[in-house]
Amino acid sequence: MERARTVTVRPGSVVALSGGVGGAKLALGLHRVLDNGKLTVICNTGDDFRHLGLHICPDIDTILYTLSGLADPDRGWGRHDETWNFMEALKDLGGETWFRIGDRDLATHIERTQRLEHGEPLSVATDHFRRRLGISTHIVPMSDDPVRTQLLSEAGWLDFQDYFVRQRCNPVVREIAFAGAEKSEPAPGVVSALNDPQLQAVVICPSNPLISIEPILAVPGIRKALKGCSVPLIGVSPIIGGRAIRGPADKLMRELSFGSSAAAVAQRYADLIDAWVVDKVDADTPVPSGVKKVVTSTMMVSMEDREKLARDVLDAAQQMSFKPISATKATDVSA
Ligand code: GDP
Ligand code: CA
Repeated sequence: MERARTVTVRPGSVVALSGGVGGAKLALGLHRVLDNGKLTVICNTGDDFRHLGLHICPDIDTILYTLSGLADPDRGWGRHDETWNFMEALKDLGGETWFRIGDRDLATHIERTQRLEHGEPLSVATDHFRRRLGISTHIVPMSDDPVRTQLLSEAGWLDFQDYFVRQRCNPVVREIAFAGAEKSEPAPGVVSALNDPQLQAVVICPSNPLISIEPILAVPGIRKALKGCSVPLIGVSPIIGGRAIRGPADKLMRELSFGSSAAAVAQRYADLIDAWVVDKVDADTPVPSGVKKVVTSTMMVSMEDREKLARDVLDAAQQMSFKPISATKATDVSA
């Protein structure tokens, strides 16, 4: 029998905290499953940097490109159908090419830089881009103020992109700092989304806890607003079977002596989360006391995986609250 889809639009909104690639996978699932405009993604800006005179926001761009369908699925960053004339010409001139910028991607960085130089806050420029790209989900930087992730290695403090891209996460990390975080304010749109009377759930996406989520939590006003939230706060583990799917989360967790497990990540969020979503392979993982464990498939390969995990997360939130969640768009109601 054909499956019907509900079309009822109910009130209710969801906030997701995200870094780049891993977070964007679940953000896309939530975006597709929720009714238009009901999702707000709060993005990490600790990776932002100035390079070749350009203001580059890697995680915001990953979210913009992912939610607009422009992302390159194989590379994991940047846009699909990209060309590299700019990089090649730059190389011929002896310019810095360690940070790859495609021709189409370059337009994003140039337009953003122009806008910021004319006094536009990052949150306004980001909102402009998401509208131009036809994205109904709200995308908000964690702060309009500069917050910069830095990592202490044996060779001293490294800027984030130096560590992450130029040195390919090879240095052993002893400490992580978020310069500027203490004085930073949440960007407009962050606290209002978290205080929205229609808010149903807050989701911590499966992003790197140490360099994607913790910079967001280091903005004092965001942590305070999260603590004051009366809706379920649900985190999804980026670690499956002790390993990161991609990137240095597990390596960093080990180097900083937290251990690389789903349980260790939950510990980092213990004062915030109400539920912790782990993969089936981590079904026995311990969770902090008072936190509900949700076991499901958390590996997102296909679009169906992304939507299924998004629904599982929203279902878990639903079971913990009495408010209905507006995840009706793609929910099957008859079987
Ligand atoms: P970045 O800013 O581009 O480094 O990306 P994030 O910090 O948002 O995401 C990196 C994290 O995503 C890594 O720790 C991965 O383990 C995690 N990740 C990537 N793909 C998946 C997936 O399919 N499922 C889960 N649970 N985690 C994933
Ligand atoms: Ca990132």
